[in-house]
Amino acid sequence: MKITEVKLGRISVPLRVPFKTALRSVNSVEDVIVEVHTDTGAVGYGEAPPTGAITGDTTGAIIGAIQDHIARSVVGRDVDDFEDVLQTVQKCVVKNTSAKAAVDMALWDLYGQLYKIPVHKLMGGARKRIVTDITISVNPPEEMARDAVNAVARGYETLKIKVGVNPELDVARLTAVRKAIGDKTRICIDANQAWNPKQAVRLLNQMQDRGLDIEFVEQPVQAHDFQGLKYVTERSYVPVLADESVFSPEDAVTIMRMGAADLVNIKLMKCGGLYNALKIASAAEVYGVECMIGCMLEAKISVNAAVHLACAKKIITKVDLDGPVLCSEDPILGGAVFQEQLITVSDEPGLGIKGVEGIRYL
Ligand SMILES: [Mg+2]
Repeated sequence: MKITEVKLGRISVPLRVPFKTALRSVNSVEDVIVEVHTDTGAVGYGEAPPTGAITGDTTGAIIGAIQDHIARSVVGRDVDDFEDVLQTVQKCVVKNTSAKAAVDMALWDLYGQLYKIPVHKLMGGARKRIVTDITISVNPPEEMARDAVNAVARGYETLKIKVGVNPELDVARLTAVRKAIGDKTRICIDANQAWNPKQAVRLLNQMQDRGLDIEFVEQPVQAHDFQGLKYVTERSYVPVLADESVFSPEDAVTIMRMGAADLVNIKLMKCGGLYNALKIASAAEVYGVECMIGCMLEAKISVNAAVHLACAKKIITKVDLDGPVLCSEDPILGGAVFQEQLITVSDEPGLGIKGVEGIRYL
């Protein structure tokens, strides 16, 4: 199975409601779609969202990295030289993790099709179904409480609440949400780097003292501040999950060796795809650190690849794959079935994606 062409396109999918975090506000998913074509007629699908505020990868950068570096390095290669081709994707250009992730997942899709095995089985095969949380955007307390009540009515058992836009208001926001939804629904929070270490410890311990019962906090401090993260992890009653601090397997190992976080968030767009995500999962198994699988604002192709990984590996105990359910339509044919919080992986060979409606080829 030889790679003949890497085709690029774009899709736009409107969100149900605007997505707001401490770092950005977004109204629609605007992703780059990758199709890796082969001489057998098999096509592998990939996707990358431009998330400049987090990865530094803009639409133009994703397209440029793929066209000028990755496609040139993989066209003509045999998919069966799998590890070699995966390594080529990682090595042919530095950084550009979203572009790498999009091509990497398309290669896994093809390799699974070649040997007629679903990728989740190829990578481990732990389970067929997973349960995701759903994100509640940062807004005034009353609006967040209303969004939380709606999410619980839709069946979600875990809410991920964005905080940090105005730290003085964070405790008030969460108090409003907890009061509105009662004590049965799990709440985790994501500060997206908004706090400093001492402020984080103060706010988190205030939240627990008020009985807000926070499961864990994501990325309370700056991404590069591993010492600050460790400071919070050691002093807060609330477990700490490293997200923006962990881009690579090397970051993950550093964080785990330092004991700087209780949990690690794996996202394909940060680490460059399934190849590196598996390394993070393996390191986590060795260190006994449970992982969350997360996504950016993504449509179903790339989230579907993350579903395969989550269904493959038991060390991934927390699932934050709400990209598709935040969208108001689904232009992706095939792949995992998303029924609100319940996600069922596809048993088709590869990743199971059949096509994309409304793709605008470049
Ligand atoms: Mg996060």
